[in-house]
Amino acid sequence: MDNREIRVRFAPSPTGPLHIGGVRTALYNYLFARRHGGKMILRIEDTDSQRFVPGAEEYIIESLKWCGIEIDEGVGAGGPHAPYRQSERRDIYLKYARRLVDAGWAYYAFDTPDELDALRREAEQAGRTFAYNYEVREKLPTSLSLPADEVERRIAAGEQWVVRFKMPVDETVAMDDLIRGHVEVNTSTLDDKVLYKSVDALPTYHLANIVDDHLMEITHVIRGEEWLPSLPLHYLLYRAFGWEQTQPAFAHLPLLLKPTGGGKLSKRDGDKMGFPVFPLFWQSPSTGETAHGYREDGYLPEAFVNMLALLGWNPGTEQELFSMQELIDAFSLDRVSKSGARFQPDKAKWFNAQYMHRKSDAELAAILQPQLREHGIEVDDRRAGEAAGIMKERATLTGDLWDLTSFFFTAPTEYEQKQTRKYWKGDNPSMLAELREVLASIDDFSKDNTERIVHAWIESRSLSMGQVMNTLRLALVGAGKGPGMYDVTAFIGREETLRRIDRILAELKPVE
Ligand code: GLU
Repeated sequence: MDNREIRVRFAPSPTGPLHIGGVRTALYNYLFARRHGGKMILRIEDTDSQRFVPGAEEYIIESLKWCGIEIDEGVGAGGPHAPYRQSERRDIYLKYARRLVDAGWAYYAFDTPDELDALRREAEQAGRTFAYNYEVREKLPTSLSLPADEVERRIAAGEQWVVRFKMPVDETVAMDDLIRGHVEVNTSTLDDKVLYKSVDALPTYHLANIVDDHLMEITHVIRGEEWLPSLPLHYLLYRAFGWEQTQPAFAHLPLLLKPTGGGKLSKRDGDKMGFPVFPLFWQSPSTGETAHGYREDGYLPEAFVNMLALLGWNPGTEQELFSMQELIDAFSLDRVSKSGARFQPDKAKWFNAQYMHRKSDAELAAILQPQLREHGIEVDDRRAGEAAGIMKERATLTGDLWDLTSFFFTAPTEYEQKQTRKYWKGDNPSMLAELREVLASIDDFSKDNTERIVHAWIESRSLSMGQVMNTLRLALVGAGKGPGMYDVTAFIGREETLRRIDRILAELKPVE
């Protein structure tokens, strides 16, 4: 390579919500750009008007933002090659399509759907699969078979046409992929792809993609494996335009596979097994159908990014937890695997739990506060953070925090049956009444002091620690869950502790 500035692009088509495979492609581009001090470009490839979905572009931008993938140039960020939305660049492409026709690398085709159908049927009857290639292009009305003045007449008369690439016959295209290595393909196996359509005056993906990568001075194309079959055509297009000198390097990323291994990870797998395949919640504007998103399901963006980074790339060490900066420092394309990466829903949860456990009280407060407000609870961030901090080791998803901490903020209104049957019987209620008086006499209600005094009392009365603690737990939490009891008493304080004990004594009938 020369020493141009590294420039990569993420070039999604706004045809629906961005799949996590797409997010991973964006992430690898971003890591590569940052690793090499280069630029990350966001180009929206919206030339297929049939498949355009309103809201998809906004979804893409919001997803990248949520993940912390920063765009240096492109849609939403501007830059020297604006516009970056292909539908706004439509005037650019026709000239390049014509240039290929003039140089003999492409041709006009006027065939109608009926004519194509007839050829398709003919091929099927002969037991062949139909391909629009060197065998048929001269049989159809194209600028290869029609006289030049007839071609001009048809275009001038407003007939519909497309420009197709004239795939060379029996040539070997030799390609290099940074992940897959050297690949060779014989051109006779390839068809003549449409590059431009007069009907909507728009290029197809292949033409727009190559022209824009060239104009935007892209140095590395990092994209999904599904584009590998297009690589020979893309190589030939660079040759046809005479742009080989600045042709980008290519890296085709492995597929994300189903948890069971076989085949590409789909929304259906997610629905069946209860995990999202999209970064954010999505609702289809046409059908109203919804899809789960990692963000709304309670995953942290840093955990999501960490998990995605390791699906198809490995650092060559045992390290599993990586911040974005650590990923940038460690990332290289030669550690991206050739084979598909199997998605593991449990691993996604494991990553999230790791990040939950590492959150500071202040960060946890920011997560818990909206959940508290939803339940009508107003507390300051210090209290919210403290409660969440005590319980964070048991949290997997952000939404777990409410369930894990609710008893810190609200007294139980009912008592779990199983625990009631086990502990609200025999001497326990009167023992709790006695404990109430011990607690009422404590001035310093800190965790350690309360623990010291209560333990001394338990010993002096030769009580069972388990009976006492579980009965107290039933009174304060209403269930068999929660942290150590002195965490709860210290947090809710003496008055509230006594109130909860009084309540159970007054309201819960002991089990016979
Ligand atoms: N618009 C293509 C897509 O949606 C981009 C492929 C490429 O990166 O060249 O995947």
